[in-house]
Amino acid sequence: MNSTHTKAFGTNSPTDNLKEMTIERRTLTANDIEIEILYCGVCHSDLHTANNDWGGSLYPSVPGHEIVGKITNIGSEVTRFKVGDLAGVGCLVDSCRTCDSCKKDLEQYCLTGSTGTYNGKDKHLGGHTFGGYSEKIVVEEHFVLKVPSNLDLAAVAPLLCAGITTWSPLKHWNVKEGSKVAVVGLGGLGHMAIKLAKGLGATVTLFSRTEEKIADAKELGADEVIISTDATQMKSVKGKFDLIIDTVPYVHDVNPYVTTLSIDGTLVLVGYLGGLEPILNTVPLILGRKSVAGSLIGGIAETQEMLDFCGEHNIVSEIELIKMQDINEAYDRMVKSDVKYRFVIDMASLKN
Ligand code: NAP
Ligand code: ZN
Repeated sequence: MNSTHTKAFGTNSPTDNLKEMTIERRTLTANDIEIEILYCGVCHSDLHTANNDWGGSLYPSVPGHEIVGKITNIGSEVTRFKVGDLAGVGCLVDSCRTCDSCKKDLEQYCLTGSTGTYNGKDKHLGGHTFGGYSEKIVVEEHFVLKVPSNLDLAAVAPLLCAGITTWSPLKHWNVKEGSKVAVVGLGGLGHMAIKLAKGLGATVTLFSRTEEKIADAKELGADEVIISTDATQMKSVKGKFDLIIDTVPYVHDVNPYVTTLSIDGTLVLVGYLGGLEPILNTVPLILGRKSVAGSLIGGIAETQEMLDFCGEHNIVSEIELIKMQDINEAYDRMVKSDVKYRFVIDMASLKN
């Protein structure tokens, strides 16, 4: 299959810094859309992948799955978009479209394995997929999202991952007016969880380790902030929450949060992948019919629903706009939880 050279930023190994490189983008098929990338958000998953934190990273690795841009070319069978339209691409660029999950609009849980925007299996060119830290991307129409035109485009980018990853559990666990929601960790996902839960009418509490984030959290819409390292504060919210969204990226003790769930409450892990340490105590689960669950991004239809909701409610991410060349410093700051509250790359900088 034909392809074109494309400027990108990526890394050749878990220990190298990211730097400029050339990747290939396929020539459009009938159902493909080519997007000039204007902005790309920086997710903690980008860093996990570049560093091979989860194992299985493929190199060279070009991260980025919070993509917004302008359509520059369309295949002959594309119907929903035209050249010049704004468009978004999130964490998925392909799935089988025929399994039970795909038929239920849950492409992220495709039973044959969905294709990640980066580090996925490239069915067209062979090898693996490359993400949004690049000039352009070619994506099958089904996986391209319509972007609300009334919002700041750079601040929309993080909705494509941080937004949908927190929206999906809020909707699945039926958060509505009066629900009591808590969020663990105020980073990219955490700040979107607060905004979206508030948008749905919930009362929202933030659990954070960081006193300096209290004022910001309240400005973002949190009704209350609990410093998770303070036992007295933790005790004050025992049995309170219908839903907790835990965005912490590394192994941590979830038991103290379980005790803050109400009867039938659920704690949804979206951040950390792996075995829990210390081990999960089942006593509060059994005595209170509580659940500990997980959730992966969201399907394409649900992502569009979230983007439309954000358009209607004027919800965007709080961003710090950076140049592509600043990405290594941004990763260092992300490891230190020093992000307010999402880095977004101005992709014009890659042209320089
Ligand atoms: P982020 O911006 O770095 O935010 C994470 C926040 O967690 C930090 O700001 C910090 O908040 C808290 N935190 C960090 N290290 C901690 C530790 N050791 N113990 C306790 N709290 C800690 O990261 P993000 O982009 O929001 O991503 C969060 C996680 O979700 C990552 O692991 C990412 O890979 C994952 N993710 C999952 C999905 C999915 O589909 N499930 C999708 C996207 C991302 P405080 O300072 O407030 O404590
Ligand atoms: Zn992400």
